[in-house]
Amino acid sequence: MAYDDKRKRIFVKHKICRFCADPNLKIDYKEPKILAVFITERGKIIPRRISGNCAKHQRIIALVIKRARNIALLPFTTAKIKTKEHREF
Ligand SMILES: [Zn+2]
Repeated sequence: MAYDDKRKRIFVKHKICRFCADPNLKIDYKEPKILAVFITERGKIIPRRISGNCAKHQRIIALVIKRARNIALLPFTTAKIKTKEHREF
């Protein structure tokens, strides 16, 4: 009874690279809507193990996201506006 199997089963969905699945889907730095799927809310590129892309397309995605960032179509990060704390006198 000490070790009953209560471990959570982590379900790994079978992931398909959506660009391999759909040859009409183009990876374009001018399409931030498509690219936005592959970045987190904070602007980080989602790793391949989560996004499900194949290596080939993940490389292109990463390159294109960086390109899109460079021309300000995507954020590098979401900047938290830091207000200076009021100094106590
Ligand atoms: Zn692919």
